[in-house]
Amino acid sequence: MHVGAHVAADSSLARKQALLLSRPLEPFPVLTAKVKLTWDCNLRCGVCRIWRRRGLVGNHTLEQEAVESLVKCLAERGLKKIQYSGGEVFLVEWLPALLRYSVGLGLQVNITTNGTLLDKQAAKMVVGERVKAVNFSIDSPKRREHDAMRGKEGAWRATVQGLENLLAARSKKGRGPKIGVNTVVTRRNFKRLPRLYSMLKEMGVERWRLIAVDTEEAGLRPSKRQWWELNGLFSQWRDLLIRIPAWPQNRGWEKMARNGRYACGFYGDRICFAPWFHLFVDADGAAFTCCLARGGGVNLGNLAEDGPEGILDGAARAAVKEMFASGRRFDVCDRCDLFLEENELLNKMAMANPGPGRRGG
Ligand code: SF4
Repeated sequence: MHVGAHVAADSSLARKQALLLSRPLEPFPVLTAKVKLTWDCNLRCGVCRIWRRRGLVGNHTLEQEAVESLVKCLAERGLKKIQYSGGEVFLVEWLPALLRYSVGLGLQVNITTNGTLLDKQAAKMVVGERVKAVNFSIDSPKRREHDAMRGKEGAWRATVQGLENLLAARSKKGRGPKIGVNTVVTRRNFKRLPRLYSMLKEMGVERWRLIAVDTEEAGLRPSKRQWWELNGLFSQWRDLLIRIPAWPQNRGWEKMARNGRYACGFYGDRICFAPWFHLFVDADGAAFTCCLARGGGVNLGNLAEDGPEGILDGAARAAVKEMFASGRRFDVCDRCDLFLEENELLNKMAMANPGPGRRGG
């Protein structure tokens, strides 16, 4: 779901959005949310910090009742899409019940999975529960390279099998979720991306999300030349790509991207509207504006201690909205490629319809 397009198509929401920069605390619904159900995972991806947290902290799987109360509260306030991820979501026993509950609330429900546990029975369940999209993680068309990145031999084969199981269940039922693939782009797997694109097309994958590696290790991030090459390929892959992992429109963008500043100067004169339209809840119940804000934003509260209302209506979330409306942002925003296209449209709309006390561009 493209939040910008959704707001643009709804005149009542568009009017509310136009007011946010001058009146940041006016009601505006959280339209999309992401919930990490668990930090448990059966893989050991090199660039992932999540599975390492197991054992370091107490809770690593949310309570089913807590997630359902959050989803119910958000749905009553206008939520449209919820994404469940982990860790690995298929390790959560009550996943089928949660999917049924969420779809029953009228939500678009998406799952992100490594796919290795998606056997025929799980695939049938996902189709039966009317999940809208399932996103698998595949980093390379080369089995050994993917397995090395995912930290487990046999991971590539198991993921591809999971994807095939879902394709088969969907075809048997005559309907089912859109099938997507998430790929973490690094300096090492970069040259195999064209082959991966062809492989995904052949398999019948419908969406491809390239995610720039989030790491302090400079040698793992794509080089300036690779970013330049990648920019040339974006248009050829546009039929599959649903997100471009950088903003290649500002001068010197390749250098910024090489340095891990994937927003590439996008937020120099723009605002991120995620503090209003999005919410992220981690597997320990901690809530943030988005998943990147977990590593450099403001904690909005905890699901177990504050409940959904305490998070949504709390002082911390209000302060973040005021901060962003005043043009300030988190340091981590410069590294962020999460909602660039959505924010581009929302900023254009805000400038075209400035609220009281603001001037249009
Ligand atoms: S990290 Fe990204 S999504 Fe989160 S507030 Fe900053 S720009 Fe917005």
